[in-house]
Formats: sequence, C-alpha cells, structure tokens
Amino acid sequence: MSVSEQTYAKVIAIDGPSGSGKSTIAKDLARELGVLYIDTGAMFRALAFVASEQKIELVEGETLSNFLNSLNIEYGISDRVLIKINGIDLTEKIREHQVSKLASIISQLPSVRKFLLDFQRLLAKNKVCVMEGRDIGTVVFPDSFCKFFITASADIRASRRLKQLQDSGDDSFSIDQIIKDVKKRDDTDTNRAFAPLKKADDAMLLDTSEMTMQDIIKILSNEVKFRASHLGFKL
Ligand code: C5P
Repeated sequence: MSVSEQTYAKVIAIDGPSGSGKSTIAKDLARELGVLYIDTGAMFRALAFVASEQKIELVEGETLSNFLNSLNIEYGISDRVLIKINGIDLTEKIREHQVSKLASIISQLPSVRKFLLDFQRLLAKNKVCVMEGRDIGTVVFPDSFCKFFITASADIRASRRLKQLQDSGDDSFSIDQIIKDVKKRDDTDTNRAFAPLKKADDAMLLDTSEMTMQDIIKILSNEVKFRASHLGFKL
C-alpha cells in the first residue's frame, strides 16, 4: 500500500515505563506543537482511586461491570482540572504514591482496559493530539502516524520519582523502596496478559537517561513535523 492510500490516526503516540520522563516530554511536545495533550495514565489512576474509595473488588464480574457503567469521566476540563469522575475533581489525588500501585493492578483487568480504550479513542477522534500511556502505539492507535517509546534506566527513573514525591512534600520514601516499586510496576505492566507495555515495531526508541529535555523535545518535534508534512497533515 502506498503512503497516500494508507490512512493514519493523527495521534502522536508516546509510550514507556513510569519515570521515563514521558509525561513531561508529552506535555512539552504538545505545547510546542500547539496540540491537545492526553494523559491516559491519569484515567487508570482516577478509576483506581474511585474503585478503592468505593471498596470495589478488583476482579472481573458484575460488580466491576456495574461500577464501570456508573462512571461519568470528564477529561481536560481546564488548565487546572485534568480529570473528574462523577463530578469530583481528582487531579491532585491521583498523584499519591498508593494510587500508582492500584492503577497498575486495575489496568490488568480487560473490562477496565476496554472501557478506557473506547473513551480514549473517542477523545482523540479526528484530532491532532499527543497521547501518552503504555499501549497507545500498539493497541489504542496502532495506526498512529508517529510513535515514540521513551525509556530510561530503573535507577534514574526511581530517583526522578523520589524527587517528584519530595517536591510534593512527601519525604516518607527511601530510594531503595522506590527502586523496588518501579521494578515491580515495570514487571506488572510488561507481563500482563492484556495490552502489555511494549514498544510498537514502528516506534522510535529514545533512552532519556543521559539526555536533556530540550534535546529530546527537539528530536521529537522535528520527527513529528517531518512525518506530518510527508503525509500532508496540518498540525
Ligand atoms: O503513566 P502513569 O504512571 O500515570 O500510569 C499509571 C498506571 O496506569 C501504570 O503503571 C499502568 O499500569 C497503567 N497504565 C496502563 N495503560 C496506559 C496508561 C497507564 O496500563 N495506557
């Protein structure tokens, strides 16, 4: 099939493990290109938070299905309000360390993935946007015109995460504990049966361990612009 015959989603897919810097990169890239930024991790986190509040058992079944059907998710409400479920702003709450673990558990459930897959596809429909997650280039938008897989060593990712927690006023974690949590979450995300964390064959791989944010954004933005102009997309 020639380039002109093939259709592509106008989504810039950014996947990678936690702490790889992908959120900062995705946000900065979206700003640089002047397009919408969609953080799918925030959706899994928000669902996990509400499920935990409502003491929903994290197993497939009628209870989970009723729970999903009861949810009204709103995303990208304003600069300060990223996500609401059933009218409640969860923007801050979903960043707590405990929620990361719950999100990793809830994201293994096929019905949860399917529920958010539909939501993510609808949100990005016919839009140029930067969407970041674990399975954007492989499952959500396998036809994305531009895919990146961002990574960094586990030690570097853990020290970034620790700094984030400390900056938010939480000094209760040691670096060893965070390294252990990062590796455990990588293991769960990589080895789950549905939509595991995996580089798409056609994604560009970037290891950010030794790179500055400025250099990364430049590489990504050049790549996006090159591909968009090659396909005749207007960004
Ligand atoms: O990216 P973030 O760390 O906020 O994601 C929280 C958790 O949500 C991840 O550890 C992963 O288990 C899950 N997730 C996912 N698929 C995505 C985005 C996040 O499974 N597209």
